Amino acid sequence: MPRIDEKLLPIFDDVLRRNAGETEFHQAVEEVLESLGAVIAKHPEYVDNALIERICEPERQIIFRIPWVDDKGQIQINRGFRVQFNSALGPYKGGLRFHPSVNIGIIKFLGFEQTFKNALTGLPIGGGKGGSDFNPRGRSDGEIMRFCQSLMIELHRHLGEYTDVPAGDIGVGAREIGFLFGQYKRLTNRFEAGILTGKGLIYGGSRARTEATGYGLVYFVDQMLKRKGIDLADKRVVVSGSGNVAIYTIEKITEFGGKVIACSDSSGYIVDEAGIDLDLLKEIKLVRRERIAEYVQLKGTGAYYTEQGSIWDVPCDVALPSATQNELNGNDATSLIRNGVMAVSEGANMPCASEAVRLFQEAGILFGPAKAANAGGVATSALEMQQNASRDSWTFEETEARLAAIMRRIHDDCADTAETYGAPGNYVLGANITGFVRVAEAMQAMGVI
Ligand code: GLU
Repeated sequence: MPRIDEKLLPIFDDVLRRNAGETEFHQAVEEVLESLGAVIAKHPEYVDNALIERICEPERQIIFRIPWVDDKGQIQINRGFRVQFNSALGPYKGGLRFHPSVNIGIIKFLGFEQTFKNALTGLPIGGGKGGSDFNPRGRSDGEIMRFCQSLMIELHRHLGEYTDVPAGDIGVGAREIGFLFGQYKRLTNRFEAGILTGKGLIYGGSRARTEATGYGLVYFVDQMLKRKGIDLADKRVVVSGSGNVAIYTIEKITEFGGKVIACSDSSGYIVDEAGIDLDLLKEIKLVRRERIAEYVQLKGTGAYYTEQGSIWDVPCDVALPSATQNELNGNDATSLIRNGVMAVSEGANMPCASEAVRLFQEAGILFGPAKAANAGGVATSALEMQQNASRDSWTFEETEARLAAIMRRIHDDCADTAETYGAPGNYVLGANITGFVRVAEAMQAMGVI
């Protein structure tokens, strides 16, 4: 496992000092810096011109109060964030996350990752992320709407088609984007479709955007396996989570002839050896907004539910962590390796702890890092921006074909870069270097920015 090059250690120390206590941000920066040793040997000007320091420091960080009134008439206060990380390649682009765990460190790690992910798509989008510590669980539609409206009262002044374009992430889907867009439109008296992505189809959304992250993940895994001469068909697959990413990952794996036998939520996991019944899963999660445990009740026979425990103890050929950061630790990795896993690819952002990534790489297991493997969502957001800018609307087939081509290109770029840098098959290195060099070259061209 590479260590941080000693020329970069002072930069990392500065990041630790300046962002004290923000462990997820430290983890994301460390992983990228570990990949850059060979890059700075080839491009010493990146160090001389302080490009790496600049890339590790967000361009702008906004923290604000979100007051709103709940259904009982009680005033509630949440904290809102938008970290505009890097705009060298295009307007800041990245989702909003509503979850009680959200704090500035989480948003910073997500914005940092997003910058390289967006660069990997090859489309003109910079990196940003935002959200709130608001917990949507158990809240009525009215409460969600009032919260979104209050958030937008502050956020709207920071957005713009050429400035910053948010979308969804954990806790933010079509319903929330609708409330946010409606409030932006009232506040500005302008129908600017390109200020948010993940919009409903009826008012400027893109076909295939909902499915894009999950579908893209499967295209990426398929490419990794194909390169080794392995077919996805008939593989046993475990997908953690049961949100937007997990659901459409399961859909596409099934289309490719694979069988997803387990998925989860934050309370526990279900196993169904017959293959997860996707219609039932969608009904529970998307329509009823209930817990995954319901699946076993409604399915009747053949499925079981385990509260707590680790989904990674379920033997599988392919593991796709698609729930949240650091959900798969060193012990989980050991268990997957012992049970013969052949490929692991990240649907969520940074779901594998550093120790787990190290163990997979040492064991020679194919490993697809999030910034490459889950880039299909934001790539399709960029396609939504293209359609909005040209006041056009493409068919599902056309949009999905573009998504598939983008994922293939991301895969090939990462694989080629890894090979060029003497580490064939190391997609972590390939993704970090490819994304970093694109951002660094753009910044270099623009002088001291
Ligand atoms: N939240 C998604 C991500 O992590 C999508 C962001 C977007 O579409 O802007 O990439």
